[in-house]
Amino acid sequence: MKVRTAIVGGGIAGLAAAVWLEHDHGVRDLVVLEASEHPGGKVATQWRDGCCIELGPQGFLDSAPDTLELAEAAGLGAEIVRTDDPFADRFIVRAGRPRRVPSSPLAFLLSDVLPVPARLRVLLEPFARRHSGGDETVRAFAARRIGPVAADVLVDAMVTGVFAGDPARLSLAATFPRMAAMEAEHGSLTRAMLARRRGGGGPAGPAGVLASFRAGMAALPGAIARQLGERLRTGSPVERIERGRDGGFRLRFPDGELGAERLLLATPAAATARLLRGPAPEAVPALEGMETAPVAVVVTAYRNPGAFGRPVSGFGVLAPGGEGLGILGTLYCHSIFPGQAPDGWILLRTMLGGARQPDAVALDDAALIRRTRRALAAVLGADPEPDSTWVVRHREAIAQYAVGHIGRVARAETAARDAGIELAGSAYRGVSVNDCIRTAREAARRLAN
Ligand SMILES: Cc1cc2nc3c(=O)[nH]c(=O)nc-3n(C[C@H](O)[C@H](O)[C@H](O)COP(=O)(O)OP(=O)(O)OC[C@H]3O[C@@H](n4cnc5c(N)ncnc54)[C@H](O)[C@@H]3O)c2cc1C
Repeated sequence: MKVRTAIVGGGIAGLAAAVWLEHDHGVRDLVVLEASEHPGGKVATQWRDGCCIELGPQGFLDSAPDTLELAEAAGLGAEIVRTDDPFADRFIVRAGRPRRVPSSPLAFLLSDVLPVPARLRVLLEPFARRHSGGDETVRAFAARRIGPVAADVLVDAMVTGVFAGDPARLSLAATFPRMAAMEAEHGSLTRAMLARRRGGGGPAGPAGVLASFRAGMAALPGAIARQLGERLRTGSPVERIERGRDGGFRLRFPDGELGAERLLLATPAAATARLLRGPAPEAVPALEGMETAPVAVVVTAYRNPGAFGRPVSGFGVLAPGGEGLGILGTLYCHSIFPGQAPDGWILLRTMLGGARQPDAVALDDAALIRRTRRALAAVLGADPEPDSTWVVRHREAIAQYAVGHIGRVARAETAARDAGIELAGSAYRGVSVNDCIRTAREAARRLAN
């Protein structure tokens, strides 16, 4: 059997690429091949006891037009839910205590998120020297601009929240390209912050309101899967790819094969490297140099709204690596989106592991729950017995863009493209759901042309 276009990987990137190929370029003769039994990859939701348990992403910022368009195309425009209170409190742990993240420069000066000398050092940011070399780490950039203490609290928390990563290893240009561009354009993050206040987006990325779908994030891959029908083949792990004699490709499965004229790979970097060994071996070293961080997710639910002896409200709390809390952070899921927990319940989603504590993912469920409860007791001041707990592990959770990443992406893409193959997904130009959807559209356009 032969199709015009085969997409390998049915995560959000592969599914979005399929929609864009049809929607933007009229390509209907396509098939999406997904190894697991479920579409969506990391985007997965389960409902238990009236609680929405997100196994992967909690939501997306509603400032990305491609994501909103994809949701419309999937028939989910009316299903989008936005957070009740976009300005709800966020907390960062410092010196063992959660501190409210200030929402304005004045609030920052008056807040206790940093000690006084570190706050004053941040004020000197406009006078920090510019970077003159090539790529640098996020930690080096932040320490140079806002001082080492602010780097190890505020920027560490941001990197933990988005990448579960190590700021001392991640590339600034690859992980926060807007921040690098804003230094280049404005000469200072302070001026970049002012640009954000004018609505142009902050130094870390575009402003927006956190959004999801009424039935949770998995609604999006679910709706796309229904539209694709038989063109989505789950339970279809591609084992090998070879060049066909006709100039196309032959995809080998454990129980058969498929011919394709064009190919788009939307698999994690390690799987992509294995698949390209045959048709584009020059791409393999660059892909093998790309890392991922594992993450464990522990969800704890409490029926008693007073379980912690005080209200648990806001978005959640992030724990910078230096705090040694053993967790990356906790989202207060009951107070983010409406209808994702029964009235009065407290629903907490704690992330553990990441690039700096990868071994956490190897702990058994009981040990992960113990570690979570210990950290929650330190942050929230009490250790009530949860009424329900759920544990999920992602061994390849989040792609890590180490220094040199942009060069690796260019080498991998060029070698794959020379072989007639496009690459998409979180391994390359942004890990967020929004990034995956946007870059899948770009890959679909290149493939169609
Ligand atoms: C715990 C967690 C929380 C997150 N929170 C957020 C958040 O709040 N907001 C946000 O925007 N992002 C978040 N992210 C990041 C985001 O969810 C991911 O980066 C994104 O979903 C990755 O999509 P993808 O399609 O690139 O890859 P994946 O979802 O990994 O999909 C790749 C697919 O390829 C399949 N595959 C692999 N090998 C083969 C093969 N040989 N043959 C066929 N199929 C194969 C896999 O089974 C998988 O389904 C989070 C991620 C995690 C893990």
